[in-house]
Amino acid sequence: MNKLRKADKSLIKDLNRSTVINAIRRKGPISRTEIAQQTKLGQSTMTKIIDELITLDLVHEKGEANSTGGRKAILLEFNNLFAYAIGIKIMQDHLIFAFTDLQANIIDKREIFYESSSNTSLIINLMIDTIYEFLNDFHIETKNLVGIGIAVSGLVNSKTGMVLRSPLLDWDHIDISQPIKEEFSLPVFIDNDVNAYMLAELEFGYGKTSNQFICISLGDGIGASFVIDNKVYKGEYGGAGEFGHTVINVDGRPCHCGQYGCLETYLSNRALNLNAQEFSARYPKSILNGQNINYETLTLAAREKDEMAFVLFEQVSKYLSVGLINAINSFNPKTIVLIGEALVGKEFFINESIERAKENFFRGSIETKIVTSNLGNDAWVQGAALQAIDMVFQPPIYEEANSLISM
Ligand SMILES: [Zn+2]
Repeated sequence: MNKLRKADKSLIKDLNRSTVINAIRRKGPISRTEIAQQTKLGQSTMTKIIDELITLDLVHEKGEANSTGGRKAILLEFNNLFAYAIGIKIMQDHLIFAFTDLQANIIDKREIFYESSSNTSLIINLMIDTIYEFLNDFHIETKNLVGIGIAVSGLVNSKTGMVLRSPLLDWDHIDISQPIKEEFSLPVFIDNDVNAYMLAELEFGYGKTSNQFICISLGDGIGASFVIDNKVYKGEYGGAGEFGHTVINVDGRPCHCGQYGCLETYLSNRALNLNAQEFSARYPKSILNGQNINYETLTLAAREKDEMAFVLFEQVSKYLSVGLINAINSFNPKTIVLIGEALVGKEFFINESIERAKENFFRGSIETKIVTSNLGNDAWVQGAALQAIDMVFQPPIYEEANSLISM
């Protein structure tokens, strides 16, 4: 476990530096006066830190602020290209890579396909090769990378780097981060994909206006991620957010987790096919009969005005609203943000689900806002990269910190 640093002068200096650098990173371009107001640091301390950051090329001076009559102020902005990060999302049959700057803006993106159920050493080698490609193509060295972040569906212990269980990939106790760490001598982070997405939502999305919210993902699986006081809550072993395995029908369908009637068995892509089986006799002419149904094909059918597609979306709305009510009653969040591939057909189920979910314990007194994420699919890999980026900007309170702040 990480040990806390001794509270001495150098810690205070690093903390002050962290406060200034994060103010410039998050609010920049920003004037010196605004930084002083925000950080409450004394003028001389702040000036000294800013001078150091400029000398180190971490911060640039830029243009002038709009004059409001007084002297024009030079603005400071963070040098996003000071270093880079790599985010990787592991899918069932392909890897998505993003090479990003320090604000997680994507500079380059690549997708590499493999046979699903390939062994993990092949996947690790594909990752290593592609990271070398980025290094070569952008003429940088490993020291220019702050780290590598990986996102994967399933139960991940981000502290140990172990994927404890991923039903989608059929992985059980797999450590894919260690070989990459050894190859590049870089910090490698790994987390559940919804937690990774949540980091992007924190940075670019609802995190800007809310510090207490939940993301629920709908697609191949059903997952969730919780932000409490601006931090992703992971539970003791990294398993917080296995929301798809909350039971909504004790006598329901068998789930791969061993229980019956999990939310996921009614709402995942696979579940849509089971839902369809219950209605196909009533809608023999449906274009969905005989098709592998997922949210995409279901949406296309609904756009063709297929009657069974409407009925299936009605089912989705019914089950989703139960899930939403359970989330609201358990966490009383300010906002629930829906994410994931199911949103392709959101016009067919979101409004109804939200309406139904209003029938929760708090009705009439507290209203939880339910919204869909405004971030696109890139948020998965940006969030993966943010695991590495966020780490270097954390207040340097631990002994073994990988930090741009401690210098
Ligand atoms: Zn389950």
